Amino acid sequence: MDKITIIVPCYNEEAGIDFFYPEVQKHVEKIPDCEFNYLFINDGSRDNTLEKLRTLAKKYPNVSYLSFSRNFGKESAMMAGIDYAEGDAVIIMDADLQHPASKIPEMVNYWRQGYDDVCGKRIDRAGETFIKRTCANIFYAIMKKFSTSYELQRNVGDFRLLDKRCVEALRLMRENQRFTKGLFTWVGYKKIEIPFEVQERVAGTTTWNYVALFNLAIKGMTSFTTAPLHLMTFLGMTVSFGAMAYMVFVILMALIYGEPVAGYPTLMTVILFLGGMQLLALGIIGEYLSQIFHETKNRPIYLIDEFNGEKMIYRHGVYTERDIGKR
Ligand code: UDP
Ligand code: MG
Repeated sequence: MDKITIIVPCYNEEAGIDFFYPEVQKHVEKIPDCEFNYLFINDGSRDNTLEKLRTLAKKYPNVSYLSFSRNFGKESAMMAGIDYAEGDAVIIMDADLQHPASKIPEMVNYWRQGYDDVCGKRIDRAGETFIKRTCANIFYAIMKKFSTSYELQRNVGDFRLLDKRCVEALRLMRENQRFTKGLFTWVGYKKIEIPFEVQERVAGTTTWNYVALFNLAIKGMTSFTTAPLHLMTFLGMTVSFGAMAYMVFVILMALIYGEPVAGYPTLMTVILFLGGMQLLALGIIGEYLSQIFHETKNRPIYLIDEFNGEKMIYRHGVYTERDIGKR
C-alpha cells in the first residue's frame, strides 16, 4: 500500500475549499493500492479559510491542516507542507482547482514506473495576458542563458508529484528567500513532464500581480545565478575601453586640428549613460546584498500557529503543543 500526501497551500480560499476535497477525492479514490492524505496549509488567510479547514478535518479522517501565524507566502507554505507531509510521495496542488485532479492517476502511474518528480507542464497560457507571457519568455531566456548547473523547466510550476527522496532533499534547503521552482530543479532525480491545461479558478481571486511576478523573477535570478554580476564586470570593462579610445581620439583631434570636439550633446550622453550604468550595477549588487542580508538572519521560514486544532509553540527549533500555564 502506497501512501501519498496531497499538499495544498491556501490563502483566502474560503470560497473554493468546499469544492476542492470532493473533486480531488473523486479522482484519487479510483487509484488502486494507494492511500491519500491531505495536508492543507492556511497561509494566514484573512477570510474564513481556517474555519473551513477545521470543519473539513473534523469531517474526514484523511485531512490535516497547518495554520501559519500570518501570511508567509506560497513558497513558505509549500515548505511547511514538505516538512510535515508523511508517506512515500507528495503531490503539491493549488487550492483553487486550477491544477486538474484528473491528472493525479497518471502522475501516480509514472511514479510507480520509477520517476521521482512528475511535473505538470502547462500547455495553455491562453488565460494569461500578452504582457505576462512576454515577461515569462524573457525571464526563461535569461535563466537559460545564465544558470550553468541546470536548466529551469519551461511552463512547469508547482503542480507535481515528488518522491520521498526529493522531499527529503528539499527539507535540507532551509533558505529564506525561496525560489521553489529552482529548488525542484536543483534537487535533480528522475523527472518527467506531463502536460495539463490550466483550469479556471473555481472561486476567489488570484493574489498574483506584476510587482509580485517581477520580484519573483529577481529572486529567481539572484538565488540561482551570479551571472548578472559577471555581466556588469564585463560591461564595465567594455565601456572603459571605449571611453579610453574616445579620449585618445579627442586629444588627437585637439592636438592636430586645434579644435575641441563639439561638446555638450556628447558630454550629456556619456554622463547620463555612465550614470545609468553605475546605478544599474549598484542595483544588481544591491539585489545580491539583500539576499545575503535575509539569509544571514537565519529566521524560520514560517511559524505554525495551529496544527489540527492544537495551538503550537516553537521552541528550540521544534514545535510542541502549547503547554498553557506551565511556562
Ligand atoms: N497562496 C498561498 N499564499 C499566498 C498566495 C497564494 O498559499 O501568499 C496559494 C493560493 O491559495 C493558491 C496557490 O497558492 O492555492 C496559487 O495562488 P493563486 O491561485 O493566487 O496564483 P495563480 O494560480 O494565479 O498563479
Ligand atoms: Mg491559482
